[in-house]
Amino acid sequence: MSDQAILRFDAVAPLRARVAAWRGAGESVVLVPTMGALHAGHLALVARARELGRRVVASIFVNPTQFGPTEDFSRYPRDTETDLALLAEAGADAAYLPDIATMYPPDFSTRIVVDGLTEGLCGQFRPGHFSGVATVVTKLLNQAQPDIALFGEKDYQQLLVIRRAVRDLDLPVAIRGVPTLRETDGLALSSRNRYLSAQERAVAPRLHRVLTGIAEGLSAGAEAGPLVAKGHAALDAAGFAPVQYLEIRDAETLAPVTRADRPVRVLAAAYLGRTRLIDNVAALRS
Ligand code: AMP
Repeated sequence: MSDQAILRFDAVAPLRARVAAWRGAGESVVLVPTMGALHAGHLALVARARELGRRVVASIFVNPTQFGPTEDFSRYPRDTETDLALLAEAGADAAYLPDIATMYPPDFSTRIVVDGLTEGLCGQFRPGHFSGVATVVTKLLNQAQPDIALFGEKDYQQLLVIRRAVRDLDLPVAIRGVPTLRETDGLALSSRNRYLSAQERAVAPRLHRVLTGIAEGLSAGAEAGPLVAKGHAALDAAGFAPVQYLEIRDAETLAPVTRADRPVRVLAAAYLGRTRLIDNVAALRS
């Protein structure tokens, strides 16, 4: 219920005991992993979780191992009390907020590495990022032991990497994707949007417009190469610098697209000032 206090856990054993009790009583449990600084996109995951299961656990952990040495780990926004209030209002039953020593004891020595899927796109520009993600998510899944875990399509490569790790390691959980929630002007909601200046915020929706333009072009039968070149030029002209990638990939394998009879995804990452934005849209090629 929206006005109910939310259960709060910061250690593995009590969290597991609570989840086991729920599941033992026939109540399915859905985990929503987050790094906090919650916005309506995260809350859309919680809403979807409530549709898919009886109990919802949201985790909040800003995972240091998925940030590169020059990235924004130390300045990543943190606001636990607001996050807890938002989760309670959204109807989550429990919040799991492990501290760093719970996730990474001093002699922590194990990493999950997913080959192939992680090599291009964000993986190319954020070395070690997906290993950090796969490791922390594997831990969160083992700690919470939910029936289902939800991830946003906003981080499309991440969703596929987690699906693959879960399949490869036979983790007993169903991974489900949730469509990207956007502002009315198309900008994908992100905790990092708060870094944008007013001027950058005005430019930011161009990223989504370029992606949808390419998707529409593909479905109208246009050639991929010129569409991507035109999109790249539009991003350059709008002030995105650098544009790290703008690519059309197979929606399931992320392989470069060679055949027209499979669903594809148009994906991009680009900086606006100091802020790195990513986005992607589905496309059909005709
Ligand atoms: P983060 O806190 O950025 O790690 O995100 C936690 C989860 O929320 C991830 O599964 C993200 O893909 C998802 N997410 C973030 N932004 C959005 C959005 N705009 N729409 C849907 N899901 C999102």
